Amino acid sequence: MQLASRQVHLDFHSSEAIPGIGADFDPAAFAATVRAAAINSMTVFARCHHGWVYYQSERFPGIVHPHLARPNLLVEQVEALHAVGVRAPVYITVQWDYHVATTHPEWLIRKPDGSHEGPPFSEPGFYQSLCVNSGYFDYVSEQTREVCELLGDRLDGIFFDIVGIRPCVCAACRREMDERGIDWRQDAGAVRRFAKFSIDRFKQRMSALVRSHRPDASIFYNAGHVGPCTRASHEAYTHYELESLPSGSWGYLHFPVSARYARTLGHDALGMTGKFHTEWGDFHSLKNQAALEFECFRMLSFGFAASVGDQLEPRGVLQKPTYDLIGSVYRQLAEREAWARPSVPLVEAALVTSEPVDREHAIPETIFGAVQLLDELGLQYDIVDCAADWSRYPLLILPDDLRCDAAMQSRLSRYLRSGGRVLACGLGGCDPLSGAWPAEFGARHLGREELWPSFVLPAGGLARDLVEGNPYVIYLQGEAIAPVGPGEVLLEKEEPWFTRTAARFCSHRYTPSAHGERKPAAIRTANTILFAHPLFSQYRENAPRWVKLLIRNTIDLLLGRRLVRHDGPSTLTVSLLDQPQQSRAALHLLSYVPVRKSARIDLIEERTRVRDVTVELALPYEVHSARLVPGGLELPLTDGRLTIPEIDGYAIVELAYA
Ligand SMILES: [Zn+2]
Repeated sequence: MQLASRQVHLDFHSSEAIPGIGADFDPAAFAATVRAAAINSMTVFARCHHGWVYYQSERFPGIVHPHLARPNLLVEQVEALHAVGVRAPVYITVQWDYHVATTHPEWLIRKPDGSHEGPPFSEPGFYQSLCVNSGYFDYVSEQTREVCELLGDRLDGIFFDIVGIRPCVCAACRREMDERGIDWRQDAGAVRRFAKFSIDRFKQRMSALVRSHRPDASIFYNAGHVGPCTRASHEAYTHYELESLPSGSWGYLHFPVSARYARTLGHDALGMTGKFHTEWGDFHSLKNQAALEFECFRMLSFGFAASVGDQLEPRGVLQKPTYDLIGSVYRQLAEREAWARPSVPLVEAALVTSEPVDREHAIPETIFGAVQLLDELGLQYDIVDCAADWSRYPLLILPDDLRCDAAMQSRLSRYLRSGGRVLACGLGGCDPLSGAWPAEFGARHLGREELWPSFVLPAGGLARDLVEGNPYVIYLQGEAIAPVGPGEVLLEKEEPWFTRTAARFCSHRYTPSAHGERKPAAIRTANTILFAHPLFSQYRENAPRWVKLLIRNTIDLLLGRRLVRHDGPSTLTVSLLDQPQQSRAALHLLSYVPVRKSARIDLIEERTRVRDVTVELALPYEVHSARLVPGGLELPLTDGRLTIPEIDGYAIVELAYA
């Protein structure tokens, strides 16, 4: 499904303690505001987290918002939007519903000690989660059926919210786990796997229900993250919405982690941010325009559609300053989206993720470190999991904590035999049972480093832009490795006089190098390089520049050519999208710098203008001309090099090939 490219997710969680819900709603004014902001899809509300519905329910008259002044607000919103050519998918909450949690406590998710999941009812908020294996399933499906029937062929799609993997031992779950022979009393892992299985089953059942009414409806299940946890229920979705509000709990690094994975799954996707200074529910705030530009342009640079979250005030009037802000960004997006949608990413590598499949919010720190580092290098890469087809990637990158069992190691061996290359760090690729790497890595594992930290001594190709022979500290403890078979030592290290302990220590931090015997810190073969240290975790921890350069130089040794290099600042992000049907590629360059101005969130207040950025391209086809778009300024191209005179936040270079 090809998504509408400029969307708004219009939150509408409205308390029963507020009168006049929708009282000032004016369909024509509502639609005109949306149209003026260049929006082409807006998600509107059927049932909210308070548990109220915004239409006249026949099956559940008790959950119509008690102060709903426009009795058919939902239908009127849908019709008003359709009248101006704007799609209107419908929101239905699932695991958070305060009214149900209060009136049907037997449907709450139960923890092993019998308490319910989420905060106590003595605190404000509707975050006590409900179990879709309880009687609540019938409630959700009947209410969804009612929305399908109410809107009929006016139903564009459904956005089911809060559909996550939440282990539960309520009576219904205990009964089914007993039937399936799952030891819920002892085995927390099995309870989690059952939770994963049952939420995936819920998605399949709900999609079948929606499709029986509207085969073409868009369907999405939101858990605040799309990742390896999403793959098994892929068929239940028509597309992905990557909720990731950088000024909320997600931060600026979550989106690229999720996006690089989601784009490999085969559905169209959108990125979802918010107009809020912080996050959802921050009614009376406006995000800095430069921040909203960056967030939406970054979505486009991945080939994605954009969605901005807003919350409608209870009386039903859209706030003009919010839509002036969204419009100022969406009009720029509209001028540029032809160079991103549709497209396929041009990639040269894949990071194999160690993210678990049974949790939504468990991205390992090493993955965050790897994405920060690789994005700074301008590497063009996807994030894949163990179930993906690796054969299309010239290079696989195995992060520090990606332990590989025998089956996975034999996949790695096959990949290497067919010409692939592997860069691994720390325990990446190592079998947790045997403690060994695949034979093709040419490395023997001697256990953990006994003396640490290590001081690595770059030499040869690895020393480019570093001081050759200088000892550079790697703070985190690594592995002790030795070459074997085809393996050769690529990088050596020195050890400290002793490891810092209470019995023996030196100065404030760590013991310096004894400058004694050198030991291997990286081992290479013709097509693999293994580092003894968890370099991506190290980059996440404190981002030493020498770690980034070691990885860059290693990638250069393994790949030789890179699709794109640039001489701009490390804060510049570059992304290559291919559009074969137009015989062109598009290079998207973003120059916005999030700053930690506050204790809790990073902020962008202005574009960061950079001048005279030279880009070196090695595309898989011959590019015959380059120009900045949408303006059209031709850029002279010499031996694959071009210079962009100025990037004011965002620039796209169209690269035409025969
Ligand atoms: Zn349950």
